[in-house]
Amino acid sequence: RQGKTQTFLAQPAATKAGTHVRVQVNIAYPSDVDSIDIASCDGVGLMRTEFLFGKALPDEETQYRAYRKVLEWAGEKPVTIRTVDAGGDKPVPGFTVEETNPFLGLRGIRLSLARRDIFRVQIRALLRAAVHGNLKVMFPMIATAEEYSQAAALFAEEQTALAARGVAHKLPPLGIMVEVPSVAIAPEAFANVAFFSVGSNDLTQYVLAAARDNAAVAYLNSLRHPAVLRLIASVAAFGHQRGIPVSLCGDAGGDPVAIPALLEAGLRDLSVAPAQLAMAKAAIADVSV
Ligand code: PEP
Ligand code: MG
Repeated sequence: RQGKTQTFLAQPAATKAGTHVRVQVNIAYPSDVDSIDIASCDGVGLMRTEFLFGKALPDEETQYRAYRKVLEWAGEKPVTIRTVDAGGDKPVPGFTVEETNPFLGLRGIRLSLARRDIFRVQIRALLRAAVHGNLKVMFPMIATAEEYSQAAALFAEEQTALAARGVAHKLPPLGIMVEVPSVAIAPEAFANVAFFSVGSNDLTQYVLAAARDNAAVAYLNSLRHPAVLRLIASVAAFGHQRGIPVSLCGDAGGDPVAIPALLEAGLRDLSVAPAQLAMAKAAIADVSV
């Protein structure tokens, strides 16, 4: 079975009915790509940058080199880099703050907008790296359209500053994670984003009010709850109707049990952990959608 599953790696993913499904990978460290054959995936659907922020806050050059390495590895294939999602289950010393309820606190884009000095460094590194490949940038934990416009405005400001200094750069398409229920319930406020990527890990925990890191409530934390699936399906339908690409980069994307439900919900674009790649493609081939 394992050997058979591995044969799916070399082929593009398709369902039994021949529907093509894009399958990208989730990475954290730039070195993650060293062990992945780019031919086995459709690019990077999520690079979690908070791990670069693990110990010390990385300077612009360190970040630029990290992003450039992944973009050059991917060639023409898209690479979606997420701006730092510190806080919640991912504390970063010297950046995140002590809170009684970190999952509902200053995390993701909220923290980046509160600490613009740190955010601007990452934005410059991303704008500079963008000339080396097919970069897309997404913002984590977006809850309101105002947060998206503020983050996009910072990209525009830093772009102007780089241009004035004659530094090579490019403005990438800017999209958002759909992981806070407010976005999934009322996506029409975000009709101007370049793309949506469903973060099913957080979306599920917020819809069911069950922390993702608490084993005692793990029985509640299921993507297959109809409330979660209904939200995902409605975001997929909204994107389809408005011509905005919708993908999913939560762990459910690589879960063979969840994959049929995700395809039924209308998704055709998943991003999975590299170890899940072959299994996800094999599971897709079993679905008749
Ligand atoms: C998610 O929430 O589903 C997601 C992909 O982001 P993270 O797991 O990094 O919070
Ligand atoms: Mg998340």
